[in-house]
Amino acid sequence: MEPHSLSLTPIDIAADSLGFFRWGHVAGGVLVSNDAGDWALLSEDEFADVLAGRVVEGHPRFADLQRKGIIRDGLDLDALTARIAQRNRHMRRGPHVHVVTLTRRGPAASANGGGDGGGADMSTETAEGVVEFALQSTSPALTFELQGEQGEPLHNVAVLRHLVETAQTRCKHTVGKSLTFRVLTNLTAMTEAHAEWLLANDVEVVVRLDGPAAIHDANRAWTQAAAHADVVRWIELFQRRQAELARPTAVPISAVVTATRRVLDDWQAVVDEYVARGLRSIYFQPLHAARVDPATWATIGYTPAEYLDRYRRILEYVVEQNRRGVDLIERTAAVVATKILTAADTGAVDLQSPNGGGSGQIAYGVDGRIFPDDDALRVDADGDPIFLLGDVRSLSPSELVRHPTVRAIASASLLDAQPMCADCWNKPFCGYSPVRNFITQGDLVGQRPHCFECKHHMGVSSQLFEWLAGGDDSESAQILRRWVQSPARLVDGRLSLPPR
Ligand code: SF4
Repeated sequence: MEPHSLSLTPIDIAADSLGFFRWGHVAGGVLVSNDAGDWALLSEDEFADVLAGRVVEGHPRFADLQRKGIIRDGLDLDALTARIAQRNRHMRRGPHVHVVTLTRRGPAASANGGGDGGGADMSTETAEGVVEFALQSTSPALTFELQGEQGEPLHNVAVLRHLVETAQTRCKHTVGKSLTFRVLTNLTAMTEAHAEWLLANDVEVVVRLDGPAAIHDANRAWTQAAAHADVVRWIELFQRRQAELARPTAVPISAVVTATRRVLDDWQAVVDEYVARGLRSIYFQPLHAARVDPATWATIGYTPAEYLDRYRRILEYVVEQNRRGVDLIERTAAVVATKILTAADTGAVDLQSPNGGGSGQIAYGVDGRIFPDDDALRVDADGDPIFLLGDVRSLSPSELVRHPTVRAIASASLLDAQPMCADCWNKPFCGYSPVRNFITQGDLVGQRPHCFECKHHMGVSSQLFEWLAGGDDSESAQILRRWVQSPARLVDGRLSLPPR
């Protein structure tokens, strides 16, 4: 973060005239923000006026700063309280993201239509238990993210279909929630019959596409992705069938990029590939050193600074494509922009304070055991059951939300109480995962200078505010506002997908 460099002494600060806000040097000025997510970009002189109590009736910034509660004169406390409650309503929502691992079977397995895979597959009974548990959530909308531990949930396609159909039937007849289904597939078991069923049941397909053939196929040494030719063939099939079915608002297939060093070295070709394939969102998923063995990391890894430098250029290039008329969003930036420009609950559990592990998101193992998120499930797979919360057969929803581990995750990620975050201008738009802190730093809280998400989120917000500093009429600001309204924006789920 930028150091605080104004030359005001405490005696210059008219504390009684100020509302509560945080501030920092952003976009060549001073950004002030508060817990309601209200913000204003000020010049240094304007900020000095605010601190000194000189922003009064007649000052050009008075009305705006009064309405946002940055200054106390005429503060509408009830309205501010309502906005803060709105900004934090995810805390009252209940688990809405349900990550279900349907199989642990590897690439050599065949899609056998629902055998138990030698105990590696979720059974139909367990899938029904998952549905029953999920439907007890207080959230009015639920998202099921269906995955396989080795990347291919379609190896257990009969249970996948049973889970979706059971949830749809139960919901239609007795529960009345809105449901979203998403399958994260490496396409190795995809067939045209499966594709038709997924389209007919509005199950969004998420695949890995790491650029043009030379980059994507080279990257396959470290991912579970299908060959480039196969990925492109399936993307084209889903897009063609969507057009034939005449459902222009649905997003039948989207893709994510596994951001290895090879990808970051040739990022422009990767973005161009997404444009060429007619994809409407792109998401570069950074690698985490703690999840990769040191020898491999030496080949495919990078420092946070290297990643952020490339990410910034990627973001600028994607916006440049939009200026030329291309309809493409960068997903992390779109979610952060939504938090900055609206009071909407994005549903992105990685960008919430407190983090949604166990309270907004649940991960289910093939055996029906419950974990606060997918990273926690993989900590268990590595031999440490520290995050185990219970089982769909025995845990009740009230036991879940009161579980000491869920409470520990919430208290470790409440940004108001964390060093650095408590004073950070980006606090209303930010969040991090305590489970990932545990993996990368050895404890739930971690330290922000060693936290990649901190650097990443700060970098994204800073870039967005630079564009917004140009004013509402600037082309970049208008592009961001389009992204916020885009149906291609992937929300109500995880920003961070499994590194496979
Ligand atoms: S994690 Fe987010 S809120 Fe905390 S210091 Fe970093 S950028 Fe600021």
